[in-house]
Amino acid sequence: MKKINTKEITCPFCSLLCDDINVIHDDKRYNVHNLKNKECSKKIEAFNINKKSILLPKIGNKISTFKDAINKSKLLIKAGNEIGILNLGADVASVRSAINLTSQINANFDHINSKYFFSNMNIVQRTGYIATTLMEVKNRSDVILIFGTKIFGKVPRLTEKILFPKSSLYIKKSKKKIFLVGQFPEKDIKKIKNNSQVTNINIKIEQIPEFISLISSKNGINNLNLSDSILNKVRLSLNKSKYATAIWSSSDFFKSHASQTIIGSITKFICDLNNHTRAVCLPISGNLADSTSIQVSTWLTGFPVRFKGVNGIFKHDREAYDVTNLILNNQIDTAIYINTLSLEKIQLNKKIKNIVIGHPKTTCSLTPDVFIPVGVPGVDAGGIMFRTDNVVTLPLSPFRKLNIPSSQQVLDKMV
Ligand code: SF4
Repeated sequence: MKKINTKEITCPFCSLLCDDINVIHDDKRYNVHNLKNKECSKKIEAFNINKKSILLPKIGNKISTFKDAINKSKLLIKAGNEIGILNLGADVASVRSAINLTSQINANFDHINSKYFFSNMNIVQRTGYIATTLMEVKNRSDVILIFGTKIFGKVPRLTEKILFPKSSLYIKKSKKKIFLVGQFPEKDIKKIKNNSQVTNINIKIEQIPEFISLISSKNGINNLNLSDSILNKVRLSLNKSKYATAIWSSSDFFKSHASQTIIGSITKFICDLNNHTRAVCLPISGNLADSTSIQVSTWLTGFPVRFKGVNGIFKHDREAYDVTNLILNNQIDTAIYINTLSLEKIQLNKKIKNIVIGHPKTTCSLTPDVFIPVGVPGVDAGGIMFRTDNVVTLPLSPFRKLNIPSSQQVLDKMV
């Protein structure tokens, strides 16, 4: 009979990195034991292996040994003139190894979500903003403005863990005021409204700057069809607040093509609020270990994303080293994908060589030249990852035994 164990784990599947997850597992399968949030349980359990999972390396369609698959990858890398490494989510040690490989083979390196990152970074570099941590929001925020559309789907326990936690050091649940600014799904609004004083301000994402200018000044022209009572409620709450917080996830703004303007208006508003109260920002980063990639890249190269190894040094260019684009436009001949966290199908370009280092449930639009199965951090492999607020790294400890290497081990052997 299989031995059943329980284990406390840190969940690596969104940037909150909740460290209170209890799983029941044998060596192969696991189930979440203690979460009420079904979305999270689903996200975590989705990485259980099934009949389609790939546990052995493949060269084309043929099963191979790990050694042969790594040797084949090395041959492809050697034959390549222009190589791109695309990070689709990996822990600190794996990113470190990927950057080492980037340097050794003069490759281009990028994270799949880097396009979302620039809107926040432009503000940091040009005008500056005041950021905070998850714990500060949990313990101090009395008025919270959440801007966006899909943020609750991206970080499903934001409400339970941060907005309305069971315990908070300085602020009672009943005293918190939450404003949802944007077009949120009905189910998300309903769920959060069960908790406390929540006001939904249903406007289009593009209208956020106009909304902000309306609440900043009583004399603005109201073209947004928002009642004076709602606008006054926001103004009054902010005037009385001791620790106001703006939360957003920049990927929610991307399709509007106005991310920079929207984020700029939020961050300026928060800076201005500091003239009479304390106010801060909490941008939520992407779910594919975006913060981890940015942090490690910055330590090792000085650049957060989109850089290239050039004979021992690194060069950065937002356009030239955009690896997603390089792949799409056939501007590289070999692509290396690192995918330990995503279940999205990877779109490969059939005109170039493709090496995929991925967890066993990785799917691709076509058969890669080489596929090497690797462990999921926090499930099959140990490691650490950065939380969205970039101030905490959480340890991930493995519990499943699939007899596959970590992505770090594979990347180290490719050098
Ligand atoms: S909120 Fe995120 S980190 Fe927390 S359990 Fe859900 S998916 Fe995992």
